[in-house]
Amino acid sequence: MKYIGAHISSSGGIEKVIFRAFQIKATAFSFFTRNQRQWFSPPLSEKKINQFKRYCIKYQFTPQQILPHSSYLINLGHPNNVLLEKSRLSFINELIRCDQLGLKFLNFHPGSHLNIITEINCLKRISESINIALQKTKNVIAVIENTAGQGTNVGYCFEHISKIIKDIEDKSRIGVCLDTCHLFASGYDLRTVKNCKNTFQKFYEFIGLEYLKGIHLNDSKKMFNSRIDRHENLGLGNIGKLAFTWIVQNKDFYHLPMILETINSKIWEQEISWLRSQTIN
Ligand SMILES: [Zn+2]
Ligand SMILES: [Zn+2]
Repeated sequence: MKYIGAHISSSGGIEKVIFRAFQIKATAFSFFTRNQRQWFSPPLSEKKINQFKRYCIKYQFTPQQILPHSSYLINLGHPNNVLLEKSRLSFINELIRCDQLGLKFLNFHPGSHLNIITEINCLKRISESINIALQKTKNVIAVIENTAGQGTNVGYCFEHISKIIKDIEDKSRIGVCLDTCHLFASGYDLRTVKNCKNTFQKFYEFIGLEYLKGIHLNDSKKMFNSRIDRHENLGLGNIGKLAFTWIVQNKDFYHLPMILETINSKIWEQEISWLRSQTIN
């Protein structure tokens, strides 16, 4: 089974996300469990939680098909201890929300060193943050997203992600989400079948397929290895359609949520339908 969908707006309430996903014929989706521009949000009411769970059942979305995304404010490798602590509390808060909603994953961007600490120091802080957060929560898998390496973001190479994972105590609760735009922008080519195979072979060697929990399907507005994160609709950027066909046809990625974060959301339904047409089932 292929789970294909998009990052859906939570405006008006998280329960709205499910019907919006259903409307564009998605079989997977991501969303923000709270206002992503705020550090903290009021706790979810019992009513909201039950409503969300009921809609998931009604529209046939299992936790395996849902990949919530955490707030961009959070920097789990923050060089400043006060802001690091704030990030950790906010991240814990999101893991708790996901668990309350019966969800399995929480996708997040690893962090930034802000030119104040070294990359390696930043990676160590991230692992420590994840360890603390996992200790204080239960069930949910923390899913690290690879980055484009823009600015001072770490996590733009498999070595970084592998280093973070190596220091995680509970390996059953850590995973990875690969974003195709970020891969391409950080120097992992996807323009030919050979390139796709090479890129994923490297991922298998450095990290391992067992850690892969989701894929973000985005074309890239910017050039190969530009280290700039600008998403484009499928086939309209510098990656091209071939990579997306190759990914949705690959048996290794069965049962993984595949999420569009392409810039024009008006054509998501079309993109989902095209992606599905590339697969056998
Ligand atoms: Zn992404
Ligand atoms: Zn991006």
